[in-house]
Amino acid sequence: MGFKRPECLTKESMHYCPGCGHGIIHRLIAEIIDEDYKESKIIGVAPVGCAVFIYDYFNFDFVAAAHGRATAAATGVKRSIPDALVFSYQGDGDIAAIGTSEVIHAATRGENFTAIFVNNGVYAMTGGQMAPTTIPGQVTVSSPYGRDPKKQGYHIKLCEMLVPLDGVAFVARTSIHNLKNIEFTKKAIKRAFEVQMNNEGFSIIEVLSNCPTNWGLSPCESMKRIENEVLKYYSLGIFKDKGRGI
Ligand code: SF4
Repeated sequence: MGFKRPECLTKESMHYCPGCGHGIIHRLIAEIIDEDYKESKIIGVAPVGCAVFIYDYFNFDFVAAAHGRATAAATGVKRSIPDALVFSYQGDGDIAAIGTSEVIHAATRGENFTAIFVNNGVYAMTGGQMAPTTIPGQVTVSSPYGRDPKKQGYHIKLCEMLVPLDGVAFVARTSIHNLKNIEFTKKAIKRAFEVQMNNEGFSIIEVLSNCPTNWGLSPCESMKRIENEVLKYYSLGIFKDKGRGI
């Protein structure tokens, strides 16, 4: 089988920095839609952050939400068009900081859409400041001596927080630091979309991604950093899949 551009990706050149994980995650979403949802109505909800222009890269509809409000916007879209496949695409600054309230309440209500949460541990678009997801010891422009939990608190584990909520049907944390985990990420997004189309409730996939620009590393070094440092603080796996008894 030849390697080709998924049909639901436009020909627009992506604006992401070289080696950024957003392009990989976009491609996985596009492959799943080409494989399983070609005939479906698809609506994405775009964040504020590096992925703010995601609507230029897919040839289906998007709604642009205010900062952190993508899960609230997705709630409205899905309730209005319940047959559509609806997903929000949000970075950690968007969903796990300013949007924490929106995601917790959408999850609690069991809103039947999928949140794709890209966690690279910094506020990337604004220059690499410390985010709620920044791991202990991590140096950022606003934590130049490394995040000290005694002073700046611990990193937030959004997936673990959402698992106990009754409205939540599927929770997974994956990574894109190597091929095996890219494949796992694709499987998890595919399953989350399936859970949504079975009307089982809220689904979320947290994807550990890289930010070579703000981490000050090469693309390859940044993938190694996920493997050697980030995974010590964020474990991977399917944490909840109600339909399969997990
Ligand atoms: S700043 Fe980081 S997250 Fe944003 S596009 Fe560049 S590499 Fe990707």
